[in-house]
Amino acid sequence: MLKTHNCGDLRASHAGPALAVTLAGWVHRYRTHGGVIFVDLRDRSGIVQVTFSQDTAPDAFAVAEQARNEWVIQVKGTVQRRPPGLENPEMPTGDVEVVAGAAAVLNPSKTPPFYIDHEAGEAEGLRLKYRYLDLRRQRMQRNMILRHRTVKFIRDFLSERGFVEIETPILTKSTPEGARDYLVPSRVHPGNFYALPQSPQQLKQMIMVAGFERYFQIARCFRDEDQRADRQPEFTQLDLEMSFVEREDIMQLIEPMITQLVETVSDKKLLFKPFPRLTYHEAVRRFGKDSPDLRFGMELADVSDLVAHSDFSVFRNAVEAGGQVKGLRAEGLGGYSRKEMDELTEFVKGYGAKGLAWLAVQPDGYRSSFAKYLSGETVDALVARLEGQPGDLLLLVADRPAVVAESLGRLRIELGNRLGLRDDNVLAFAWIIDFPLFQWNEEEDRWDPSHHLFTSPMPEDVPLLDSDPGAARGQQYDLVCNDFEIGGGSIRIHRRAIQEKVFKLIGLDVEAARQQFGHMLEAFEYGTPPHGGIAPGIDRLVMLLAGEHNIREVMTFPKSQTASDPMTGAPSPVTDQQLKELHIRLAD
Ligand code: ASP
Repeated sequence: MLKTHNCGDLRASHAGPALAVTLAGWVHRYRTHGGVIFVDLRDRSGIVQVTFSQDTAPDAFAVAEQARNEWVIQVKGTVQRRPPGLENPEMPTGDVEVVAGAAAVLNPSKTPPFYIDHEAGEAEGLRLKYRYLDLRRQRMQRNMILRHRTVKFIRDFLSERGFVEIETPILTKSTPEGARDYLVPSRVHPGNFYALPQSPQQLKQMIMVAGFERYFQIARCFRDEDQRADRQPEFTQLDLEMSFVEREDIMQLIEPMITQLVETVSDKKLLFKPFPRLTYHEAVRRFGKDSPDLRFGMELADVSDLVAHSDFSVFRNAVEAGGQVKGLRAEGLGGYSRKEMDELTEFVKGYGAKGLAWLAVQPDGYRSSFAKYLSGETVDALVARLEGQPGDLLLLVADRPAVVAESLGRLRIELGNRLGLRDDNVLAFAWIIDFPLFQWNEEEDRWDPSHHLFTSPMPEDVPLLDSDPGAARGQQYDLVCNDFEIGGGSIRIHRRAIQEKVFKLIGLDVEAARQQFGHMLEAFEYGTPPHGGIAPGIDRLVMLLAGEHNIREVMTFPKSQTASDPMTGAPSPVTDQQLKELHIRLAD
């Protein structure tokens, strides 16, 4: 190799004239001090200081004099202890320096568009355009290595437990996971398209039909959705499926895997061991979300009964119309100004609420947007229900239950941020169970599956498919952490009759179901074992383990907010010839 040692590995034990080292790496920083140049030389392992002396090694000095940031150089020299008092306790290699005897430029570098040795708030677009430089930075190297360790841990953990890693195709047929498909036109079948998998859902179920019993895959999934901090057009899941299992078996496999993973690869603290389990309805009732952040309280309280007959029409009307009035207590924010209150009002309006009612508890009474419309007793009861103490701010929304949950759920997170209650070093994993099997789709006037259409109903709820589908619960379980859904899974339907019933409820008639899922229905006729699985998102998991707030920070070459890649320019136009081969004519 062009080097004998890694920069970051050098320690005082390497010091001494007997050991000659050859290093190769990037010039991280340099400074000149009279006849001496100090270069911080970096490779993946870390940084070590190299000194070039004009007196003792003039040729090496001449190389260092020329070199600039990010030049690639090779250095031959010896490791020496730094003189007493000049050690740098901040650096793992800070007890030593390498005294250069010879040096060579392996490759110069243009001046990078941003500093590699520190971040200065560069626009993300610039970071993505020069991602290969951004990835040189310590933070990104750490994130990528953490990702590697995470995936390796998972592979080892599952392999030890009898799982087989099996690949499934990328060019496949649409699998409905509720998002838009990415389509790939077929050259040999004019007018036909492959779909990139939204997940390998159907294929892993086929693998169960095929008798593998325990499958996993670090699987790339593709969904054409609007981009958010936790969404990308393509992302990676730990896709997993098991035969002859019940819900409990999957949960008892995944929970120790996650616990041991966190404790092995990160220094994050697990808030709960074992993970608490909340039903879907409990999560929404208490936190407004089915992926609650359980690192802090600030639970939602229902005051509908207290204000249903009050003179305040906003509250009364909401309850009369079948809605709710719920609120939460922002501890110590009673001093918020009108302007800050207006900001919070705008915030909840962004999630569909018509307004935000507020009440600041003061030592000698209340300051409030609504208290004057209610009797003193009602206000006291409301404050008591929300456990308001002097100095607190109580915030309420009156609306349809879905709007109340969404707006207050989001407000709770916003206030959690403002109050510093969301510590990145703490991971609060939990299970959400007993989801409704279906959600009513008002626009389309039909049921939609809450998870996907292969999720089995709870055995005792099967009769509800005929009598009251909205009340049927699915054998679904979501793993959540710190306001994110980390992964969802379910026990699947393995009997054709129930699968057909579900197709029907979601508006797929026999013919349409046969066209889209004929292969599944057919496979299910050949002795399908009872099976179930789950698919935790690797990107979100690594993001939390890294203490990052955006999955792009743990992906090598992510797409931008507009689903494009500033580095390669994808997506980009193609030639007329290519289009012709694909039998495609552009509309405009
Ligand atoms: N395919 C599902 C998803 O991507 C996960 C599963 O049910 O295993 O969310």
